[in-house]
Amino acid sequence: MEKNVLNTDLTGKVCVVTGAGGAICGMLAEKLAAAGGKVAILDLNEEAARKVADKITSEGGIAKAYKANVLDRENLDQVHEQIVSDFGPCDVLINGAGGNNPRATTDNEFHYEAKKIENCKTFFDLDKSGVEFVFALNWLGTLLPTQVFAPDMIDRSGNILNIASMNAYTPLTKIPAYSGAKAAIVNFTQWLATYFAKSGIRVNAIAPGFFVGNQNRGLLFNDDETPTARTAKILAGTPMGRFGELEELVGAVLFLVNNDAAGFITGVCIPIDGGYAAYSGV
Ligand code: NAD
Repeated sequence: MEKNVLNTDLTGKVCVVTGAGGAICGMLAEKLAAAGGKVAILDLNEEAARKVADKITSEGGIAKAYKANVLDRENLDQVHEQIVSDFGPCDVLINGAGGNNPRATTDNEFHYEAKKIENCKTFFDLDKSGVEFVFALNWLGTLLPTQVFAPDMIDRSGNILNIASMNAYTPLTKIPAYSGAKAAIVNFTQWLATYFAKSGIRVNAIAPGFFVGNQNRGLLFNDDETPTARTAKILAGTPMGRFGELEELVGAVLFLVNNDAAGFITGVCIPIDGGYAAYSGV
């Protein structure tokens, strides 16, 4: 009988997920474990990583938490050694650690608005170290774990999945560093895909749009569940007219890491955004 190629089976596969103490990658880690993977939960926040690992193991899955800093090569090498000893060499790497920082964020959407906002932090006030922090976390924080874990996958049908953002296609207002760093992730995904194309490693990315999680629900909706002003703008720019649910990222991820279903796919970035990146607004 022909196998169902979309029924991704990761039994015995070692899946390393960075930023896995967080909202998106914690959830993805659970789904990788549910597909049979042995999941290494890496996060700077050790407690958050442990919570995710405990949840997976309490539900019968295989997972272990590791305190890891994606910007510290020495630490990553030690964590790598520990994972190989605990689970074996890495088969799937999800580079999930990332995010923005207020020091790299303007208060105004347009320059002319500065005079309307008290003590407005404009483009000219952006802090160099804040911009460097955001670029480092999103870009170097993808490159360094790839240098550490990709050697395990050479000639073994490995998978690397990067997390971009729909910011990568059209930048959102106020967050130039984050948008630029995520654009760099799409570019780097293509570069790596080419570099490893004949070495048995596929490299792809997803570009999540706007998702409601427990951590941002309060910012997006008023107490009476009506949308805030920014939410109204987001929804107007999303042809499907709603936010995504985190679980809606899972299908694309399990598809991309499935060597039967996606064996000839490398270097792509799949937007998962309800059409946001496709819509001109008119
Ligand atoms: P999150 O803040 O919930 O999770 C990020 C995790 O990364 C946190 O647990 C944090 O402790 C960890 N982390 C931060 N710095 C680290 C470091 N130096 N080393 C190791 N771990 C570190 O964020 P999220 O919303 O789950 O986002 C996950 C990824 O998805 C990020 O790359 C983010 O940019 C991207 N993304 C998120 C959205 C969204 O709507 N939430 C949209 C597009 C892209």
